[in-house]
Amino acid sequence: MSESFAFAPPAVVSVPVLGHTERFPVHRIYCVGRNYEEHAKEMGFTGREPPFFFLKPADAIVVAEAGQTASIPYPSLTKNLHHEIELVVAIGKGGRNIRAQDAAQHIYGYAVGLDMTRRDLQSDMKKQGRPWCIGKAYDQSAPIGPITVAADAGAINEAGIWIQVNGTDRQRSNVAKLIWNVAETIEVLSAAWELQAGDLIYTGTPEGVAAVVQGDTMVGGVDGLTSISVQVA
Ligand code: MN
Repeated sequence: MSESFAFAPPAVVSVPVLGHTERFPVHRIYCVGRNYEEHAKEMGFTGREPPFFFLKPADAIVVAEAGQTASIPYPSLTKNLHHEIELVVAIGKGGRNIRAQDAAQHIYGYAVGLDMTRRDLQSDMKKQGRPWCIGKAYDQSAPIGPITVAADAGAINEAGIWIQVNGTDRQRSNVAKLIWNVAETIEVLSAAWELQAGDLIYTGTPEGVAAVVQGDTMVGGVDGLTSISVQVA
């Protein structure tokens, strides 16, 4: 007997996978805060602290298809919308208390993502010691490109990571500069939550975060993965 619902349940959020017809169904979106030293410094911190996490709702995903420019609206309430280019890890096998040395077995693939941030609202919440949700977890705050399966992603832990806005460099660094690398992040994260297949981890952004305005086009990438193009409509 099939269940019935009071209203139509929301569609499953999913991300395309390069070279596969099956899509990656999204369970949760975890994000790592201040995970590149120079970005931590630009935000007023020392750059050395244990990893910490926040979440975005799964339906904050906006898929930027390969070779196309996706569109996101300029969000409500903010006057300071920032881009954060990030390597995203897609979890294919869940678990808790995963050791860093075993983390690779849990990784389905990788993608390029944008942790879009209403920076003024986040800063207000920080000052008041309140949750960051309104600054970070707003609607359509998590653009993402197609997932590349791990076997095809090459030397992702030493890949260049970059974003240009209207053709000009804004952020350019290397995944090797992560304070907590992908395996370590999975170890710490999986001690706090049981990871599930379908979880995405936005691993943090390097220095150079800055504002975008209506009409700007962001093109970002991690070498070895499909780059993304997203316009602020
Ligand atoms: Mn971020």
